[in-house]
Amino acid sequence: RESKRLRTGPVLHDPARHDDTSGQLRLVEELRLALVRDELVLHLQPQVDVGTGALHGVEALVRWQHPARGLLGPASFVPLAEAHGLIGPLTERVLELALAQLARWRADGVRLRVSVNLSASNLLDEALPERLLGRLLHHRVDPADLVLEVTENVFAGDSPQVRGVLTALAGLGAGLSIDDYGTGWSSLGYLRRLPVGELKLDRSFTADLRTDHRTAAIVGSTIDLAHRLGMRVVAEGVEDEPTLHELERLGCDLSQGYLHARPLPADELAGWVAARAASPGALTAG
Ligand code: C2E
Ligand code: MG
Ligand code: MG
Ligand code: MG
Repeated sequence: RESKRLRTGPVLHDPARHDDTSGQLRLVEELRLALVRDELVLHLQPQVDVGTGALHGVEALVRWQHPARGLLGPASFVPLAEAHGLIGPLTERVLELALAQLARWRADGVRLRVSVNLSASNLLDEALPERLLGRLLHHRVDPADLVLEVTENVFAGDSPQVRGVLTALAGLGAGLSIDDYGTGWSSLGYLRRLPVGELKLDRSFTADLRTDHRTAAIVGSTIDLAHRLGMRVVAEGVEDEPTLHELERLGCDLSQGYLHARPLPADELAGWVAARAASPGALTAG
């Protein structure tokens, strides 16, 4: 670490270096501080039962309340965290915030699930399951209320280490979900071997569902396959009613997207829930 600082130090102040590089490195240093200064926040996006319209759970999506730049989305700092060895602490922080939220809801008598995104390198960390267990016990949260999302690319190398971590995470009682399903290195082999409970159809499928019959065929048979394997299916990126109705026709279990709500801070989510309760017929309140 010392030698790395010595090497990156001069780069930060070298005016000959490309602006963007030094800007990125400054952001990395700021992110390191943000993790201890509590600047990361979760926005929560509802996942709605396609059949009943009931709120099933939320996906936790990280944002950085940057002191100077305002609210930053994950695209501007998660890849940096991955590249600079900060994704471990970032994920720990996100898990902590998500479990604290579950504990607050439990105190209020609210039962919702929370999905958290993991990065591929988190699955190389063999100590993660035990640390997560510690946090679950600390917050006295039911592990079944936590869903961990991973993209199918994590299965590409068929690494025994990754398989071991995933199996241990599932062994805690948390759910496993395959995020952006259908866009990555899709071998169905891992679906036979791992205790995956959920597929999240990538939003590119959702977007083309009504206009492309080949997409509809893939989505329909993916839903059937998932159900035959005992898994549920979440459609991401649902933006309009006709698409929701098509998903209902195809038997999709849950939908998530701007049609229902954008990712919201926890207090705004409560307002969204209240508004829906006041107009039970509306699928799109908020
Ligand atoms: P994702 O997990 O696939 O999350 C869904 C993304 O789609 C979110 O973007 C969400 O705001 C956006 N979205 C939701 N509904 C709609 C819709 O109807 N239309 C459109 N066009 N977009 C929609 P966001 O929050 O910017 O997150 C982007 C990605 O960043 C996530 O994709 C996930 O891969 C990553 N990410 C977010 N939070 C975390 C985190 O805590 N840890 C890690 N490792 N990655 C995270
Ligand atoms: Mg996700
Ligand atoms: Mg996704
Ligand atoms: Mg996606």
